[in-house]
Amino acid sequence: MHEALESIYERVLSRNPGETEFHQAVREVLDSIGPAVDKHPEYADARIVERICEPERQIIFRVPWEDDDGRIHINRGFRVEFNSALGPYKGGLRFHPSVLLGTVKFLGFEQVFKNALTGLPIGGGKGGSDFDPRGRSDREVMRFCQSFMLELYRHIGEYTDVPAGDMGVGGRELGYLFGQYKRITNRYESGVLTGKGLIYGGAQVRREATGYGSAFFVEQMLRVRGQSFEGKDVVVSGSGNVAIYTIEKVHELGGRVVACSDSCGFVHDRNGVDLELLKDVKEVRRERISAYADKASSATFVGGGSIWEVPCQVALPSATQNELDATGAAALVRNGCLAVGEGANMPTTPDAVRVLQEAGVAFGPGKAANAGGVAASALEMQQNASRDSWTFEHSEARLRDIMIDIHARCHRTAEEYGAPGNYVAGANIAGYARVAEAMLALGLI
Ligand code: GLU
Repeated sequence: MHEALESIYERVLSRNPGETEFHQAVREVLDSIGPAVDKHPEYADARIVERICEPERQIIFRVPWEDDDGRIHINRGFRVEFNSALGPYKGGLRFHPSVLLGTVKFLGFEQVFKNALTGLPIGGGKGGSDFDPRGRSDREVMRFCQSFMLELYRHIGEYTDVPAGDMGVGGRELGYLFGQYKRITNRYESGVLTGKGLIYGGAQVRREATGYGSAFFVEQMLRVRGQSFEGKDVVVSGSGNVAIYTIEKVHELGGRVVACSDSCGFVHDRNGVDLELLKDVKEVRRERISAYADKASSATFVGGGSIWEVPCQVALPSATQNELDATGAAALVRNGCLAVGEGANMPTTPDAVRVLQEAGVAFGPGKAANAGGVAASALEMQQNASRDSWTFEHSEARLRDIMIDIHARCHRTAEEYGAPGNYVAGANIAGYARVAEAMLALGLI
């Protein structure tokens, strides 16, 4: 790490004790922006890095709700409004039992740079709760969402902070959240949330965007190496929204996804994942991934093993943070993997990134590769602001252009700063420089 950044990092560690994922996310950025710090002494004078590492506002609140049997539960809600130099805070809500303040801070920090990379006018934030929607009835989820929004509504708004989905928050939850916001405020303020259903102000391609975008980004990484998805075996971890639409697009681009997973294990389908069956298992029935293997004769379910042992030329970790470690990365390298693109946020551990980069595997970090979701959210905001709605084809073409631009920006910046082919450096420096310029222009606020 650059000398000037070491003391900043030490201070982040001591001021945010125990928040290991946040430390990891900060470290990854500080490790790569040294060349930008040297090139721009004016950023250091304005203490831009120190300011970027400190969220503008952090909100923590109690969320009480009643289950179907009349029992009372208390969860914790969070919204970390990290940086609004480029636009209103923008980022998803995650409902998962593992969510702590440090989780939301890591996600919010990543979001600042990711959103900057899209080139669109959005700042960064993130929120969520330690609520576990799994196994809950629709009415329980509704009551939780309504209680959550009863506090959150006072902090958000189309010009202030615009939440969306993330793990555990999809179309159903966003519908309940929007309904409650509308009821409390008496305003049909479509632009306050993104990822909405098409019937009440949502946008075409938002649902598909993170997965499609990740496939488009990796397509560009392959293209630089004279390759394409055509004929390649691909492993996509996860089986949620990101994974499903990554698989859909990879298949359209000529690749064959041979494995996907959930927290219980993975399925290996020699014939390529049957997308209709996967959607039925995961989106309609909300079953475990083993149910896929029960219904597909060409598939086997492996409980507890490592999906990264499945031979592939492209791997797309699209489940959750730190799911691909150095052992998994070594298995990918051994099996001849050419490219890894992060569909999830920070799914690859720092050691694993090192293994991949040292072996010459093209590595696309999440803040670039999975930026398609939030980019499509910004397009949804545009449509809401102009009371317009675009076609699927137009929206997908816009998304593809944005992903091509993000790839080019990362690639060019990495070369400019002496790290050709290093998309981690390219993404961090390009994102940082854009936020820094806006912060300088706005003065000390
Ligand atoms: N949760 C998504 C992400 O990690 C999307 C956020 C959004 O659309 O605001 O980028």
